[in-house]
Parts: sequence; structure tokens; C-alpha cells
Amino acid sequence: MEYFSSNFKLGILGGGQLGKMLLYTTRKFDIRTSVLDPSLEAPSKLACNDFFQGDLMDYETVYNFGKKVNTLTIEIENVNIEALKALEKEGVNVFPSSKTLESIQNKATQKLFYVDHNLPSAPFKRFAFTEEIYTAIEHSSVEFPFVWKRAQFGYDGTGVKIVRSVADLKNLPNVECITEELVPFKSELAVIVARNTKGQVKVYPVVEMEFHPEANQVEYVLCPARISDEIAVKAEQIALKTSAAFEHVGLLAVELFLTQDDEILINEVAPRPHNSGHQTIEASYTSQFEQHIRAILGLPMGSTINKLSSVMVNLVGAEGHTGNVIYENIEKLMEMEGVTPHIYGKKETRPFRKMGHVTIVHSKLENARAIAQQVKQSINVISN
Ligand code: ADP
Repeated sequence: MEYFSSNFKLGILGGGQLGKMLLYTTRKFDIRTSVLDPSLEAPSKLACNDFFQGDLMDYETVYNFGKKVNTLTIEIENVNIEALKALEKEGVNVFPSSKTLESIQNKATQKLFYVDHNLPSAPFKRFAFTEEIYTAIEHSSVEFPFVWKRAQFGYDGTGVKIVRSVADLKNLPNVECITEELVPFKSELAVIVARNTKGQVKVYPVVEMEFHPEANQVEYVLCPARISDEIAVKAEQIALKTSAAFEHVGLLAVELFLTQDDEILINEVAPRPHNSGHQTIEASYTSQFEQHIRAILGLPMGSTINKLSSVMVNLVGAEGHTGNVIYENIEKLMEMEGVTPHIYGKKETRPFRKMGHVTIVHSKLENARAIAQQVKQSINVISN
């Protein structure tokens, strides 16, 4: 198949910032793209060849969109799976596969997948409704503290709550969910594995994530992670085993916990470009976005070696600000060496909404981390 400057068409379900960054590569390689997103103001809209507005969960919309492309990928997991199954049957290349997406979309089936494939993750119980947890507590089959997770449609920590007493359960939605043992982890790590249609595999260096204590969102991503080689190898091996178990094609971001005893547990996976790989645009030989495109098209995989150490800072909307966005002091960042801001193109800011990110590169990780702190203190994502 000829991809470059040809009639080949790549479809992307979802037109958010991940889609927009995937399109840097399709523009670079002159690969034609179509994007489907519910919003006419989607960040990807300007960079694709054809844009369609529509509901990603609607069978007809996804099916009809998929029929117009040769290869279909996603930048968000919540898409209509039945439509993908029909498209696969009719010869459209769908990566990640409907099967993988189906097991990942639901946290309960995702956890069962780990159990079935002997992959390490925290013990859990599944519930059809949150209300059922009260009975489980009465019978001591669930013990405090635990983590409540919405089975479907949670994102960026919105579907996750640490429950220390019955009172913490009160305001949770009465939906399908899991309870998971609270892992007193030392740190959170992530590994991105890329596998192409021919089975060629590349793995990115392990990154370390630092979370915002209240918002439960990643605040800094450090690459490489400040861990021993032994732990890095262990994390990589588990990520590779996970990608192989899914027979995955494309990127698989594997979020991990490093426990107090230096064990590695899988938290969850994302079958697409991931927040923990944004720094690869500036810091790696091949960005995660380019790697995903290479993988799903069966092209040779790029090198995942770091050119420099890096820290990534998410730019999220400040508390108390909703409305047209202003990036206060962005010019201060642009004066700093090795600092690159990325603005996703969302007009409206809201508290904790992901509006952009900043990558800091340096030959020394500790210097990049110090600059990242200055970046964080300088810039404010506010409304006018
Ligand atoms: P989301 O799908 O919204 O990203 P995650 O399952 O990744 O949700 O959880 C968000 C965060 O909550 C994690 O990054 C971690 O900080 C915390 N968390 C999740 N599960 C556990 C657990 N079992 N023990 C301790 N902390 C957890």
C-alpha cells in the first residue's frame, strides 16, 4: 500500500489534542486523514483533510465514517465498538482492534484480562451498582480503605475515588464499578510500547508521573524515571508482556504502580497516544504520535532513544476560571532555553481542563525538573 502523497485515507475517531498531535505526523508525511468528533471546535479540525461532526458512540455515524477510510484508529477509547466490529468484517483495518477496545473500555473486563493473562495488578471486586458495595462492606468482603472506580466513562481521574469510610461513598454515582485495594505506592510509572502490524516492537524509556494532589491529574512527567535499572527492566518487561497479550497494534501506554517492596503492578492501559508520552515530541528520536502512525501502517518502527532528559508539565485551567482562555505569562516560558509550550486550541478554559502542555528538555533531568517548577509557577491558564 502506498501511503505518501496517495489516495490512501487514515480515519481518526476523536479530534482532541491527541488527534491534533497525530496529525503533525500525517502532515509531515503527506498522508490523507479524516477526523470524526462531536465538536465543530475540535482541536484537530484544522489539521486534517476532512472533518466530520458526529457522535463517536453512535453505530451509524462511526460505521459510515469508517466506510470512507482504509485504516481506522482512535484517540479516545469511548467509541462505538459494534461499528468497529462490522468494519473489521468488511475489510477496514482497525487499530487498536475492536476486541482490545472492548476489554479496555470497561475497567472490570480490563482487570479480568490481567487476571486471565497472569499480569500483575491490584486485587479488585466488581459491582453492577455502587449501592451493592454497602452490602459487601457489611459482610466484610470489601475493607477500607479502597479505591472506587467507575467501570466506564471515567477520565482524568473523574471516575476514581479513594474511599476511607461509608461517608465517602455517599455522593458517588450509582453505576457499574469496581473496588480495588488501595496501593500505597512509592511512585507511578508509565511505559509506552509500540507494536506494528508486522510484529516489530519498540519500547520507550520508563517515565515517572507526579500527580496533582487534589485534581488527581498528572502534574509532571519525568523521563527517564528516577529508578534503578533493575526496576526499569521489570517495568518494561511487564509492559511488553501486556502489549503481547493484547496482540496489540499501535501504541499501548501502560500505567504502573511501583510498590513499597519494588513490585510493579499495572494500574490501567490506554491503547493510543498518552499524556505520559508528550515529551517524546521534543525529547525522543521518534515522537509517540509518529510511532503510532508508523505502527498502524506497518511501516518500520522509529528509534525510541531519548535525545535529552525531559519533564512535561500539563497546562490545566486554573480554579475559579471558566470562559475564553488566556495563557498568562506564556512569553516568559518562551524566553527559557529548552522550553516548548503546546497549546491545544480549546477556546474555553474550565478548572483542571487540559488546555496544553509544556516540555522542558535538558541534558540533566534534575535541571529540567527545576525549570519545570519555574514554568509551573510562571504560567496561568485563566479566562478574561
Ligand atoms: P483514570 O482512568 O481516570 O486515569 P486511574 O485508574 O488511572 O483513573 O486512577 C487515577 C489515579 O488514582 C491514579 O493515577 C492513582 O494516582 C490513583 N489510583 C488509582 N488506583 C489506585 C489504587 N488501586 N491504589 C492507589 N491509588 C490509585
